[in-house]
Amino acid sequence: MTGYERWDLVVVGAGPAGSTAALAALRVNPAARVLVLDAAEFPRDKVCGDGVAPHALDVLTGLGVDVGALTAGTAPIRDLRLTSPRGVTAVRRFARPAAVVPRALLDARLVAAARTAGAELRRHRIRSLTPTEEGVDVDGAFHARTVIGADGAESVVRRQCGARSAKAGTTAIALRGYTSAGPWPAAEQRLVMSTTHWPAYAWVFPVGDGTANVGYGELIRQKPPTRTHLTERLHALLPDCPPLTLRGHRLPLSPGRPDVGRGRVLLVGDAASLINPLTGEGIYYAVLSGSLAGAAAMTPDPAGEYRRSLHRLLGKHLRHTDALAMLTRMPALVDLATSAARDGQRAFDDLVEVGLGPGTISPALVTAMLRTSIGSALEHSRSLRE
Ligand SMILES: Cc1cc2nc3c(=O)[nH]c(=O)nc-3n(C[C@H](O)[C@H](O)[C@H](O)COP(=O)(O)OP(=O)(O)OC[C@H]3O[C@@H](n4cnc5c(N)ncnc54)[C@H](O)[C@@H]3O)c2cc1C
Repeated sequence: MTGYERWDLVVVGAGPAGSTAALAALRVNPAARVLVLDAAEFPRDKVCGDGVAPHALDVLTGLGVDVGALTAGTAPIRDLRLTSPRGVTAVRRFARPAAVVPRALLDARLVAAARTAGAELRRHRIRSLTPTEEGVDVDGAFHARTVIGADGAESVVRRQCGARSAKAGTTAIALRGYTSAGPWPAAEQRLVMSTTHWPAYAWVFPVGDGTANVGYGELIRQKPPTRTHLTERLHALLPDCPPLTLRGHRLPLSPGRPDVGRGRVLLVGDAASLINPLTGEGIYYAVLSGSLAGAAAMTPDPAGEYRRSLHRLLGKHLRHTDALAMLTRMPALVDLATSAARDGQRAFDDLVEVGLGPGTISPALVTAMLRTSIGSALEHSRSLRE
């Protein structure tokens, strides 16, 4: 294998998952030779709602990233206004504020942090992987002991290593744009769900600099919806929204038990279909899976170590969100959960943990939903008697 560049770790993709993987590997072994390959030149845009959960910032803080610098120029978002498919509205304060950081900024800042830690970034679109006795050959140009595939929803690494792609019925599509002209409060995130084409919702995520990220997404059924349909749905759910320039992208949602690679190839973030199927939130999973895979790559058993740590930290949560994704195909259940969140802070906080963090279906949330449903049944029978 003369002529090959030799690396301890090659990370394919420099989005949140890839940069975090590089950071985590270098945190375990600062002397490791870590190469990050990305098809794009940074800074680059990425179609996203730009919402960054506090849980994602926790992971990055644990890796020594200055999250103040990462979120600079944006303002903390303290409140959430949730409107359920049939119009129940809950407005409450987050237990911890969320951030909204345009991806052109967030990703460039994370790449810079990985480079400062010692990673080398090169512009290169990868096309092929070949397993060898000692590791993996990348495009006949690089040889790595371990490869981390962080190349997003259309992952070439996933296809090349033979991992399963997203199951039918677990991919969503969404589009988004930016506006500075919306009528919405500056420190409130807004989610408006809809029974039409359910599961589907529109969002408004203010950045804190006078602009807001506005978008709409729904599950892909037999064939992908058209841009015209998605744009019409956005304006139907957010009638005050001014005209926008919109861009769209696919979201491979978590199937509950994601396929995270083969041999010395580990998959992270969207490449492993790690997007919360209830909310479309993927940045927390991307940085968490990236951090676990990066650290695992520095051990003698990268695949085993990565699988075990991911299972320990997210296994139960992923099974719960998978079950909830099935149950919430019935919009009535989401109406009920939103009513419980409207009626009590504890139910609201638990819902946010499931939707944005590693939370599971908590007894407190189930009790609150039962209480709400019994309450409305009693009210209904009282109104029939009157
Ligand atoms: C419309 C929309 C709204 C969303 N809103 C939110 C939100 O508000 N909050 C949230 O948490 N999540 C949101 N998500 C999900 C989130 O965007 C993803 O989960 C997240 O970007 C995953 O990060 P990643 O690093 O795995 O992949 P990506 O961010 O997609 O990065 C992949 C990188 O790989 C590079 N690449 C691709 N192919 C190759 C190749 N062959 N060779 C080399 N490089 C390659 C790309 O250039 C890119 O830089 C949204 C998604 C969409 C589509």
